[in-house]
Amino acid sequence: MDYSAEKLSEEKVFKDPVHRYVHVRDRVIWDLIGTKEFQRLRRIKQLGTTFLTFHGAEHSRFSHSLGVYEIIRRIIDDVFAGRPEWNDGDRLLALCAALLHDLGHGPFSHAFEKVFGFDHEDFTRAIILGNTEVNQVLAKVEADFPKQVAEVIAKTSEKKLVVSLISSQIDADRMDYLQRDAYFTGVSYGQFDMERILRVMRPREDQSVIKKSGMHAVEDYIMSRYQMYWQVYFHPVSRSAEVILTKILHRAKQLFKENYTFKYELVHFISLFREQVTLEDYLKLDESVIMYYFQIWQEEQDLILSDLCKRFVNRNLFKYAEFDPAREYKKLAQLTTLFMKAGIDPDYYLVVDSSSDLPYDFYRPGEEEERLPIHLLMENGDLRELSRESEIVDAISGKRRTDHKLYYPAEVIEDDSTEAEWKRQIRSLLN
Ligand code: CA
Repeated sequence: MDYSAEKLSEEKVFKDPVHRYVHVRDRVIWDLIGTKEFQRLRRIKQLGTTFLTFHGAEHSRFSHSLGVYEIIRRIIDDVFAGRPEWNDGDRLLALCAALLHDLGHGPFSHAFEKVFGFDHEDFTRAIILGNTEVNQVLAKVEADFPKQVAEVIAKTSEKKLVVSLISSQIDADRMDYLQRDAYFTGVSYGQFDMERILRVMRPREDQSVIKKSGMHAVEDYIMSRYQMYWQVYFHPVSRSAEVILTKILHRAKQLFKENYTFKYELVHFISLFREQVTLEDYLKLDESVIMYYFQIWQEEQDLILSDLCKRFVNRNLFKYAEFDPAREYKKLAQLTTLFMKAGIDPDYYLVVDSSSDLPYDFYRPGEEEERLPIHLLMENGDLRELSRESEIVDAISGKRRTDHKLYYPAEVIEDDSTEAEWKRQIRSLLN
C-alpha cells in the first residue's frame, strides 16, 4: 500500500487543553510523532525562561507542534478540501511541515543561539535531511519528500500557499502559540476567535486569504498578538532570567577557553564550547540536561559562574531600570567604571537588553523584513491588503516598538551599614 495514503485503522487522539483534541489519522503523521527527534521536544519548553515569571508556562514545544499540526489539519480538511484553488496532493506536505516546523529548537534556544552562534532553523533542516528517524519516515513517502518538507519550513518552497499557512502574518504557528501561551501563562490577552478565522480562510494560488466578513476577528488576533508580546514574551522579569542564563553560558565558555579546570566533566558542553556541534551532540541537549549543569556549577570555584547559576536556579534575578541607549550612554559608562572600582565585573553584572516587535506590516519591497501581508477577499473577488480596510490595523502598521532595559544585581543598590561611596553613586545613577 502507498505509505503516503495509509490511514490508521482507528483514529488516534491527543487530549489538548487548547484545541480539546488533536486528531491523527495518517500513518505518516503518527510515525513522525513517535520518532525520537520529535519526542525530544517534550523536554524543551515553549517559552524558555517565562516560567520564572508566569509559573504555569511549563508547556513544551511538543504540545505547540501538535497544535500547529491540528490547526493546519482543520484548515485543509474542514475548509479548503474540495475548493478548486487547493491541491489536495499538498495535504501531507503541509501537515508534515506544520508538525516539524520547530524540530530544530534546542534548550533555551534564544540564549544558546546568541552565545554559540548557531541557528535552530539550520538544525531543523539538518534533522529533516540527516541520518535521523524523522528522515527515514519522510523518505518512505518519496525520496524527495524530506527536501520538500524542509523547503516549506525554510520558506523557499515554490508552494507558496502551503508556506503561507505555516509562516505568514496570520499562520497556524502564531494562532497556536498565542492561544497556548495565553492558556498556560493564565493571561487573558492571547484569546481571539480562531474558529471564526478558520471558517473565513480561503486558498489562493500564492497565499491563504481572509474573507472580508472575518476582518474583525483578524483585528482581534493582531491586537492579541501585540498584547502578548508586551505583556508576556518581553516581560522584563523573564528577560532578566534570560540575561542571567546568557551570562552563565558566556562565563562557562570563557572559562573553558582559559583552560579553567571544571570540578565536574563537561560532557555535553565540550563541542558547544569548541563550536563544533554535530547533529548527534545537539540532539542530546534538552532543558533537563542544561539544568543539571546549572545545578553542579553552583559549586564551582569561579565566583561569577557559581553566583550566576545560584541566581538562575533559585530565581534570584537581576533588577532592571528603563534605559535609553541613545541618550544615556554616558551614564552607562559611569556605571561601568563604578562597577569596576567596586570589583563587580560589568561584563556579567551590568547588562543592556533590548526587545523589539513590529505588530503588523504591509509589503515593503526591498526591506530587510519582507513580510507577506494579510489580504482580505472582497465580495467582488478582489484582494485588498488588511491595513487599507482596517483603521485599527492601519494605526499600528509598520510601527516598530523597541524597549531597552538595564539589568543589574539588586545588592548594588541596597542599603547596608558599610555604605561605600561607590554604592551611593551607583544608587543615585540607577534610581
Ligand atoms: Ca512555532
